[in-house]
Amino acid sequence: MPETNLPKDFESQMLELLGQAEFEQFKTAINKPSRTSIRLNSAKNFSLSWANTSIPWSSTGFFLDERPSFTLDPAIHAGAYYVQEASSMFIEHILRSQNIPRGIYLDLAAAPGGKSTLLSSYLGDEGMLVANEVIQPRAQVLKENIIKWGLGNTVVTNNDPEHYGTLEGFFDLVLVDAPCSGEGMFRKDPQAREEWSIDSVQLCSARQKRIMDQAGALVKADGYLVYSTCTFNEQENEDMIRFLTEEFSYEPVRISIDNAWNIRETSVESEGKIFFGYRFFPHLVEGEGFFITVFKRSSDAYIQEPKRVKDFKHPYLKEIWDRDSSQLDEELGFDGKGKYYTLNDSFFRISKDWNLHFQKISQHLSLKYFGVEIGKKQKSDWIPNHEWALSILPKGDFPSYEILELEALEFLRKNELEIPDLPLGWVLITYKNLPLGWIKNLGKRVNNYYPKEWRIRM
Ligand code: SAM
Repeated sequence: MPETNLPKDFESQMLELLGQAEFEQFKTAINKPSRTSIRLNSAKNFSLSWANTSIPWSSTGFFLDERPSFTLDPAIHAGAYYVQEASSMFIEHILRSQNIPRGIYLDLAAAPGGKSTLLSSYLGDEGMLVANEVIQPRAQVLKENIIKWGLGNTVVTNNDPEHYGTLEGFFDLVLVDAPCSGEGMFRKDPQAREEWSIDSVQLCSARQKRIMDQAGALVKADGYLVYSTCTFNEQENEDMIRFLTEEFSYEPVRISIDNAWNIRETSVESEGKIFFGYRFFPHLVEGEGFFITVFKRSSDAYIQEPKRVKDFKHPYLKEIWDRDSSQLDEELGFDGKGKYYTLNDSFFRISKDWNLHFQKISQHLSLKYFGVEIGKKQKSDWIPNHEWALSILPKGDFPSYEILELEALEFLRKNELEIPDLPLGWVLITYKNLPLGWIKNLGKRVNNYYPKEWRIRM
């Protein structure tokens, strides 16, 4: 990789943070290529064929020896894994080592969805995640990644953090992976070096304060707030710890780390308590630059429990009554815990355990997606949706057909497939037993139902 000059002000800042000798190591590290890593979707059955090494703070993360062409691997389109740099996977260690209770979680700045898919996996069927992204086209990418991950426990919203104002004390955990000046991306993305300036750090810090001012209030008593950035400077990290703890009543959370991981702990004194943060430097850790800190909301803070609404009204969602929802679940061969809504006659399924939370969210926010979109029903026949294919829900009575890599790529390009002896009607296409989508055999012709906007062009 060609060496790009670092901004002078950035150099001074890093010299202060690291000292001369370490700063030299830092500079060498950011001019080396980064190591590719992925995180497996434990709800989908898939084993890696590439040479790999485990990421020490993640149960499902792996460094790959080489970077394959992910677009040409059908398994990624089936949501079998997510390409994510290793430092970000530390969130899993935080959740597990603190034994953070599952419940209703919010990822306030979620696109493209790396940390949301991690939270979704941690929650499994014991919680619901709200994944929010303010920028519309990015929210679309987030939705796609959530659909591919397929756990059915996530609601995607497209809102400014301010719109969450009515949900004070509502969440068991809020993650703010803040938009930042991106110093930790200087290796992966040399353009980030050109865009960096002292002014941009200040702008980012002001924006982060606005976001944290909202986010801090959304966590319920004894709930957790996790704040992270991919930048090193103190204005966007330590100063944000000070800001949050002066505005709201939070307790410190200290994370146990293995010395061999080379993650740097930093501490901040605020309101008479010591708070902790964790920095990942690219010359010490095989991952990108990253900072993360965790807080626990004080026990006397407010808790907002969603109330049962007698007559749920929504501009475009129609609630399916509980008894009919149970019948649908039985008919489709699911676990009986489904609650259904329709939108333009298409059925969506969420877990009934989180229905009241969902109703409250749907009343106040702009929904992009929720649960699993199953499809439409015509008389007694289902017209299955692509989202159902990619979800981990069983696929009812539909037959499936396993294809090999080349055919799978043709399917993902939305080309016609020539498959002999295919049953008539809807057929689920699988690759390495991972569902990829639907085709419909009309006898004379086979239609490929892979979504047009998702098709691969390579
Ligand atoms: N958490 C994501 C992941 O792991 O894939 C990455 C999030 S990225 C660091 C920050 C996100 O914040 C971006 O998607 C950006 O569009 C969004 N964002 C930008 N301005 C924002 C604002 N004022 N409030 C909330 N989010 C914002």
